[in-house]
Amino acid sequence: MRILITGGAGFIGSHLCERLLSEGNEVICLDNYFTGRKENVFHLMDDHRFELIRHDVTEAIFLEVDQIYNLACPASPVHYQYNPVKTVKTSVMGAINMLGLAKRVRARILQASTSEVYGDPEIHPQTEEYWGNVNPIGLRSCYDEGKRLAETLFMDYHRQNAVDTRIVRIFNTYGPRMLENDGRVVSNFIVQALRGESLTIYGTGEQTRSFCYVDDLVDGLIRLMNTEADDLHLPVNIGNPGEFTMNELANEVAKAVGKDVNVVHLPLPQDDPRQRQPNIERAQSVLGWSPRVPLAEGLKKAVEYFRPRVSSEQ
Ligand code: NAD
Ligand code: UDP
Repeated sequence: MRILITGGAGFIGSHLCERLLSEGNEVICLDNYFTGRKENVFHLMDDHRFELIRHDVTEAIFLEVDQIYNLACPASPVHYQYNPVKTVKTSVMGAINMLGLAKRVRARILQASTSEVYGDPEIHPQTEEYWGNVNPIGLRSCYDEGKRLAETLFMDYHRQNAVDTRIVRIFNTYGPRMLENDGRVVSNFIVQALRGESLTIYGTGEQTRSFCYVDDLVDGLIRLMNTEADDLHLPVNIGNPGEFTMNELANEVAKAVGKDVNVVHLPLPQDDPRQRQPNIERAQSVLGWSPRVPLAEGLKKAVEYFRPRVSSEQ
């Protein structure tokens, strides 16, 4: 198959490019390099089935492809809040452009949505039926509401134009190729621990997240794209249900790095969700998917990626 991956030079996208190429597909990686890097896909450049295009999803593009994974969008709060108007345009106009392409060439298209559509959730763990608790005018809303509107567009193109759509709600994912300055908690803690700096815990550190290793996530994305079932245009949660407070995560990172660490408490960002844990029964029953990599093991792999990068800074 010929497969388009928007945001393919980013953290998750680059792992997806690698995996789809290894399965014998042609891969077109499209990216504007806002948070992605050519370095993430350099090792794929010699493969004649791999193509890299610098392009912004807010502009239309015409390609002949069989499948589209629409991942283009900054994912870290630091990056998506840097230019919030652009974040909304990327989610909304990006979805319209990619759905238009999917409609024209009759490609199946998968949208990388997010657990952020649940906002600060009032039900726990979160099932796909939950409508969410999102502040529409807060600092996170450019991302949360942008992704919610993208879901709306996916559902409407499916109902109105019979586009073959998939929506995955991705929960916090980590692993090699996150940016050192990404701002997300796992990369922050690992890089801080390796540099011998204090780990920055926002608020009390009692808020929770559930962390999925990137290989498990990519496996879930590919299964969702390639499974046939009548209701698979409806959203599916993909994440690891193991739930940790940020204080617990700091301890796990210290263990993975093999060092004692100090922590410093900084103010909690606005609208920071207090808890988050996926209910993955739907992914388990429809896709036969469950995460395999426990946090301690995944953190070790991420530490091995960051260690040489941090030592080369000295
Ligand atoms: P990332 O920032 O590493 O990757 C996003 C990629 O999209 C980057 O390569 C960036 O340059 C590219 N991009 C951004 N705006 C673009 C535009 N207008 N046109 C073209 N390319 C553009 O983030 P990631 O963690 O790899 O996330 C990938 C996708 O998964 C995103 O859509 C994100 O919202 C979603 N997601 C990720 C997580 C997570 O924990 N990593 C959780 C939920 C959802
Ligand atoms: N966080 C933290 N220290 C950091 C970065 C983040 O304590 O250096 C907290 C943040 O406040 C949030 C959690 O870690 O409660 C996850 O943050 P991240 O930005 O990784 O993801 P998101 O909030 O989008 O789930």
